[in-house]
Amino acid sequence: MTDAIPPVSAPLGPAAAASLPEEHAVEQRLRPERFEEFAGQPQVTANLELAIRAAQGRGECLDHLLLSGLPGLGKTTLAHLVANETGAQLHEASAPTLQRAADLAGILTRLERGDVLFIDEIHRLAPAVEEYLYAAMEDFVLDILIDQGPGARSVRIDLPRFTLVGATTREGLLSAPLRSRFGIHERLEPYPADVLQGIVARSAGILRVAIDDDAAAYLAARSRGTPRVANRFLRRVRDLAQVTSDNHISVDIAREGLTRIGVDESGLTRVDRQILESIGRTGGHPLGLKSLAAAIGEDERTLEDVYEPHLLREGLIVKTPKGRQLTPGGRALLGLEASVDALGEPELPFEER
Ligand code: ADP
Repeated sequence: MTDAIPPVSAPLGPAAAASLPEEHAVEQRLRPERFEEFAGQPQVTANLELAIRAAQGRGECLDHLLLSGLPGLGKTTLAHLVANETGAQLHEASAPTLQRAADLAGILTRLERGDVLFIDEIHRLAPAVEEYLYAAMEDFVLDILIDQGPGARSVRIDLPRFTLVGATTREGLLSAPLRSRFGIHERLEPYPADVLQGIVARSAGILRVAIDDDAAAYLAARSRGTPRVANRFLRRVRDLAQVTSDNHISVDIAREGLTRIGVDESGLTRVDRQILESIGRTGGHPLGLKSLAAAIGEDERTLEDVYEPHLLREGLIVKTPKGRQLTPGGRALLGLEASVDALGEPELPFEER
């Protein structure tokens, strides 16, 4: 029916897609603004709403909040919700951009009482910057070192009470002193398909495109448990519906739209399949992270944060101390023999984690 139309989009990974300015703008439109609009994660939202109400009742700022979970599960959205709910101003920063203590000082000294400071990827803070944050979080002061050598002296600046919301995809990489300074820890888990279906339907309404229930369910089932991926799939499929079917997404359009961006019936992307094939080519030897990243041309962090969690959850690969291996399910998917004979030690081309 739509053979003459070129593919609707390059098969970008979820993280790469979210970084495009146009994608980012649409993502903002789809972002829930109130807790009632935030689907799923009932335990997390209940805990946060309770903590906010209790702090407000005491006339205090909300305790510092650490949000962990895979990319696209709603950490930034929750930071916005906390600010909205408390009527606070939200200041956003990403840890890799806070290279020097002065970068952090610049943000902290702009805060007003009750403000929410959101620091994304907080596990990537430079150690020197992190040290400054300790006193800011605990005592609401900033000790700035002026000059170097014998004339060096420290000046203390009082900061207003504020709430730090830290987001991390790797809670395990957070230093113990930093982690212990967060009073509230909440972990976001991948979403069940029925919740994602509701998110797709809500987003379709905002984007003014009609979608059948079974089409929303089709997209949701292939969205890796991740709202950002569900919304991205919807936007790509909407392009196809707009051009070919009068802005109406049926299950056929949903299927064709996903096929065009390289997502197969089981929800695997081209990169997922490249990963499985690279591991499959070792003939049963474990493949380390560095070798795998080199083989598929993705950086190690994207591989670990974006692609591997889904393959692990689907039971297609396992992580062993020596590297990644296919499970029988992963081997079956590639049409390989169900098991391999015991193999000797592999020769690994890079130092492996
Ligand atoms: P993270 O910060 O964890 O990477 P985001 O908060 O940026 O994820 O979420 C990505 C997108 O997914 C947001 O724009 C929002 O539209 C959508 N989203 C995330 N969580 C939910 C949710 N629980 N309900 C509805 N939409 C959500």
